Amino acid sequence: MKALMKLINGEMALVNVPEPSPGPGEVKVQVKATGICGTDLYGYSAVKPPVIIGHETAGEVVEIGEGVKKVRVGERITTETTAYICGKCRFCQNGDYNLCLERRGLGSKINGTFADYFVIREESIHPLPSHIDFFTGALTEPLACATHAVMEQGETLVNDVVLVLGPGPLGLLVSQVAKTKGAKVIICGISGDEKRLTLAKNLGIDFVVNLEEIDISKLLRKITKGYGVDIVFECSGSPAAVHLGLELVRKRGRYIQAGILHQRVELDFNDILFTREVCLIGSHTQKPSSWVKALGLMEEKKVNLKALVTHRLPLREWERGFKIAKEKSSIKIILYPD
Ligand SMILES: [Zn+2]
Ligand SMILES: [Zn+2]
Repeated sequence: MKALMKLINGEMALVNVPEPSPGPGEVKVQVKATGICGTDLYGYSAVKPPVIIGHETAGEVVEIGEGVKKVRVGERITTETTAYICGKCRFCQNGDYNLCLERRGLGSKINGTFADYFVIREESIHPLPSHIDFFTGALTEPLACATHAVMEQGETLVNDVVLVLGPGPLGLLVSQVAKTKGAKVIICGISGDEKRLTLAKNLGIDFVVNLEEIDISKLLRKITKGYGVDIVFECSGSPAAVHLGLELVRKRGRYIQAGILHQRVELDFNDILFTREVCLIGSHTQKPSSWVKALGLMEEKKVNLKALVTHRLPLREWERGFKIAKEKSSIKIILYPD
């Protein structure tokens, strides 16, 4: 089969590899759709080549391994990205699979889903809600990252004033999930983000701000009576956004780093932690409880995933897909096997 592989020299190539077959407790899935993630685009330290990349996926079960009980051939599914966990460490015991010391992820340490087929442990599989098509179903993983950030790490509550920095796929999902919790959401972008900001407006986000056109401090003085926002979700991965978020969060507010930063950031801990008691929180991918929450929101039609899918391309056009994914005029690009 054809598969998009990250090679040992760091380059990406469409290669011919044998079809995988499921071991005991594993399921073989025919890929129908896989989304391009920021981690595929910009290189990510967890990816250990040579490996087939891709992890935001939906497909159909075509074969089950020995001992598989809950999953059936022909089922329409999506999958968690956990391909292996130790099951014994304190994080595993607590359901925090994302933090397991020996975790191996689909498309980073284990062959992923930019291919015709992949195999994964039965426990990671979830059936897709019946009204969700495969292209939309591929967004379950990024949605689970958003439910993890908003519900589990941010503990967002009704009436919280929430600031989302960065209107990319993650920011648009985080904003929608925060809305389902009854928060008042302000999403921010910069010039070039117009298309994404327009979508945010169409999705019903309360305040949509181009930071180069609107004075955010002035707007927040009005909305928060000068206190600052209750929660910041930094979804852009830009150091400038980190500084802005930390400036705009209120005393004892919560700052959640949801996007990946590719540079070190220098922080004034005296101001942030000592003077203002701001709570700094991390949010790393997703874990089983985040998937249950994400699929629940999909089942109840509380989030619009379909609107985020701007491009669908065959896998053989992956280079074009990756190029488009780096442009801010796109949102989510889905690749499907030819
Ligand atoms: Zn991803
Ligand atoms: Zn573990």
